Amino acid sequence: MDIALEEARAAAARGEVPVGAVVADASGRPIARAGNRTREMNDPTAHAEMLAIRAACAALGSERLTGCALWVTLEPCPMCAAAISFARIARLHYGAADPKSGGVAQGARVFSHPQCHHRPELFDGIAAAEAEALLSRFFAGLREGPAGREK
Ligand SMILES: [Zn+2]
Repeated sequence: MDIALEEARAAAARGEVPVGAVVADASGRPIARAGNRTREMNDPTAHAEMLAIRAACAALGSERLTGCALWVTLEPCPMCAAAISFARIARLHYGAADPKSGGVAQGARVFSHPQCHHRPELFDGIAAAEAEALLSRFFAGLREGPAGREK
């Protein structure tokens, strides 16, 4: 989760919502890492999880990440949860809960849906306090306007 938090901090520095993700292979070795890049790439699907999954699939030359684990600083949204299921990721570790946009423990609850064909093992609340602090600092900065961002 330390690498995911690093990616989240780097995303904040780029002006992106601070979320970071890492894919580790079955032996625990990190094979892909990413932070949000929706603004930079003009792409609403460029969430940290999506980018990390794409990079991990490219690295393994496979459309599936069987046996792999995903670490992400925030509860995945429904889009990312679906991608995690399609990728056959074995274990999902996430940090902060996301009552507004999360799709795992609330909202769409993608993995509990009868149409979900693969459910990862779930581990929530990992380093949640630090992930939440990053997000609240980021959004507080946005509310304060340009002057607040100089800090
Ligand atoms: Zn997402």
